[in-house]
Amino acid sequence: MTIWHCRVCGLDYEESPWGLDDRTPDYTICECCGAEFGYDDYTPASVRRYRLNWLQSGAAWFYPKLRPADWQPEPQLAYVPEPYR
Ligand SMILES: [Zn+2]
Repeated sequence: MTIWHCRVCGLDYEESPWGLDDRTPDYTICECCGAEFGYDDYTPASVRRYRLNWLQSGAAWFYPKLRPADWQPEPQLAYVPEPYR
């Protein structure tokens, strides 16, 4: 099993929403940053644009109930894949 990290916020997932071939997004929503996989994370430019808006609006979780109590955005952002930083 390979851990996949959101291109926008770095949250870890047990499966890639981009599919086994990395080219077949399922258009689900990141539970943390709210990015739609396959749309908001399509290119490095779209990822950076989405991330900037998300951070500037307070880095709220899309599903607030899933947010760990001691969560901080910075350590998680360190897991963003290099081409999308
Ligand atoms: Zn995310």
